[in-house]
Amino acid sequence: MSAPGKFQVLVVDSSPGNRQLLSECLSQLSDVKVISAGEGNQALDLFAATQPSLIVMDMNLQDMDGITLARRIRGRERLGEEETLTNWTPIVFLSSVMDEELLAKGIIAGGDDFLHKPVSEVILLAKVRALLRIVGMQRDIHAAHRKLKEISTLDGLTSIPNRRHFDDTFATEWKRCLRAGAPLSVVLTDIDFFKQFNDIYGHQAGDACLKAVAGSLNESLFRVEDTVARYGGEEFVTILPGTDARGAIAVAERMRRSTRELCIPHEKGIDGLVSCSFGVSCIHPSAEATPQKLLHHADQGLYSAKRSGRNRVVLTQHG
Ligand code: GH3
Ligand code: MG
Ligand code: MG
Repeated sequence: MSAPGKFQVLVVDSSPGNRQLLSECLSQLSDVKVISAGEGNQALDLFAATQPSLIVMDMNLQDMDGITLARRIRGRERLGEEETLTNWTPIVFLSSVMDEELLAKGIIAGGDDFLHKPVSEVILLAKVRALLRIVGMQRDIHAAHRKLKEISTLDGLTSIPNRRHFDDTFATEWKRCLRAGAPLSVVLTDIDFFKQFNDIYGHQAGDACLKAVAGSLNESLFRVEDTVARYGGEEFVTILPGTDARGAIAVAERMRRSTRELCIPHEKGIDGLVSCSFGVSCIHPSAEATPQKLLHHADQGLYSAKRSGRNRVVLTQHG
């Protein structure tokens, strides 16, 4: 994508003289930077490399016609990095023949406007301005879309991934580990005596405690593929792809220590401080094992950790 605020316009014309004229004309627009190609294939390469904001192309190129080029460009746009949004690049055709059939074909192939050569500078600049205005709006929409996507996967209170993000990531990592024959571990975390914490210190202090615990759990993860999410209420879930039971216990133990080191006072807590309990489970994903089973075992571990005194890590083995 071109630099924000600056639009890159790709001019495609086989004639060096025409390219120069068009470039000079378009360069009058202060926020436009012009690049040019003499053939269709070169234009396709430049399109892939620079992702211009707009394309002005002659209908009659030597290696392919404008309609073929427009079709190929539209095909490549669909493979953009945004899965749900297409990055539309306006295409303005230039043609020395004024043929209605050709115009209609060009629009069907993916073109957005059709100008007759020799092109009036005033008309070309006006059309390009109008199309770039829409491109600017498209940029704003894409930015808003990215922002919304980010917000929709984060928990509003703690700013770590939310349950929806966990569900998606867990399903993806399960499949990935199944394919790779790798182990997959999960850790369920629950804050101890949190109801009493809220009762004693108030809901706002409870929220601050949740944020601090989420932050310390997150900072206890050292691998990019590890994810901790808010599972609900005062519970968190951590996915550790490619990590065996021993490794998962080590991560959970690090998390436990780190939540203790926050030193959040809790008069009804263990030794006067907030603590968490951890249930750990590990599986080699297979057709018989299910993601639900893995979570269920981690939940059993958490239950044992609670029953045996809290502020501890318990692993539940499968089978
Ligand atoms: P245990 O040690 O057995 O886990 O006891 P607990 O008190 O932590 O567990 P319980 O499930 O009885 O209570 C959980 C409490 O978590 C109840 C609820 O008020 C509190 N909680 C859940 N979500 C939030 C939240 O978003 N903010 C605040 N402040 N409190 C929350
Ligand atoms: Mg709970
Ligand atoms: Mg609790």
